[in-house]
Amino acid sequence: MVVARVFGKSSPEAIQRENDRLAALQQLDLLDTPRDEGFERIVRLIKQIFSIDIGIISLIDGHRQWYKACSGLAADEVSLEDTFCRCVVDCDEPVIVQDATKDARFLKHSAVTGEDHIRFYAGVPLRTKAGHMIGTVCAIDRQPRSFGSRDLSILLELAGAAMDRIDLMQSAATDSLTEAMTRRAFKQEADQLISLALRHQHDLSCIVFDIDHFKQVNDRHGHAAGDAVLKAVASACKATLRAGDLFGRIGGEEFAVVLPHVDREGAVAVAEKIRAAIASQPFRSDYGVLHVTASLGSSALSIVSKDIETLLGQADAAMYQAKHGGRNRCVSWSSIHADHAIGARRRVLKAGSILFNDRRSTIDCTVKSIGSESAGISVSNTSGIPAEFVLAIKGEGFETNCRVIAQDRQHLEVAFK
Ligand code: GH3
Ligand code: MG
Ligand code: MG
Repeated sequence: MVVARVFGKSSPEAIQRENDRLAALQQLDLLDTPRDEGFERIVRLIKQIFSIDIGIISLIDGHRQWYKACSGLAADEVSLEDTFCRCVVDCDEPVIVQDATKDARFLKHSAVTGEDHIRFYAGVPLRTKAGHMIGTVCAIDRQPRSFGSRDLSILLELAGAAMDRIDLMQSAATDSLTEAMTRRAFKQEADQLISLALRHQHDLSCIVFDIDHFKQVNDRHGHAAGDAVLKAVASACKATLRAGDLFGRIGGEEFAVVLPHVDREGAVAVAEKIRAAIASQPFRSDYGVLHVTASLGSSALSIVSKDIETLLGQADAAMYQAKHGGRNRCVSWSSIHADHAIGARRRVLKAGSILFNDRRSTIDCTVKSIGSESAGISVSNTSGIPAEFVLAIKGEGFETNCRVIAQDRQHLEVAFK
């Protein structure tokens, strides 16, 4: 189990900087977005220019480093505790480690002592135009090496190119692989449809779905087969929708739908249609026939859920319940709401701490959605976290007792006590 730094030790300035950084990251809305060839090219360039093993462009939230692009390592993300990049975040400037075995900060690090055998690390901040550090760009090698000022300036240029690409992508409306709307475009259009629905007092509902065990598809059949499945799932879903419905790719293998003029019961029926369409369809690719399923959550416009972030937050919570319940199923937010009396929820991005064992144990987390009675929380690994704990949000003085009502490998749904 990862035991994080002791909560409350950071200075108020550092907490403020962290909160501003997370607000900038939330604004860009990039975490868990699909793979993009532009970023892949930059990490390949890092490897070629410096003749090294590993290149990474990462985004850093409250508890983890998520790889927007990575070449040379198999992981998609790593707990922030376990990364060298933690130092770049803490000091807010480039960090160069020529030989980790001679650096007191890293010589006992598992990436150095273990089979990853990391020796060299150069990491620079990935910084927005406004100056907020949202992640890092790194060059890593399995043998010691030097890194001069010219090398550093090249890595900083590549970080600038990555940031330019992020800025450019903000205006993209369509995901090139699936032809679904991008997350940003989806939310903008959804907000317009919600305004119309509120003005004319008609129904509107929302569905979120995530492909089950998709990692296995990539691991067993390769990334290209994974891409082919994503494309086919998107088209199976689109075929069940009407022309006026919105369909967006809001994560790597996570999609969302907005259904105007459809109420809560109607949304459950549409979700079930999408589930059945995905589950019953054999996906033919160059790699043979594959079968996949998805877990779906739905939510509907109501007096307390009147914006897309709230609808997505509620549909997300329902989707996690569907995963928890065994996958390949649909759950409506209203049903969990009835079971656990948890009120409206909004999607947020806040750095938090999970405290237990009489506050002797602390684990960093990211609060992904929150309401007055419940929250959705992401952690690197839920194993070892007890069924009841204290949730604290850094810098906000927020602390409350929680009980877990559903959990997945990296996600906890909690009700406040
Ligand atoms: P669960 O049922 O809990 O959702 O399990 P899972 O394996 O689907 O979930 P997890 O979030 O662990 O894995 C999602 C995987 O989706 C990890 C990531 O590599 C993959 N992925 C994300 N974007 C893309 C993409 O654009 N193409 C491909 N091929 N894979 C992607
Ligand atoms: Mg997922
Ligand atoms: Mg999945």
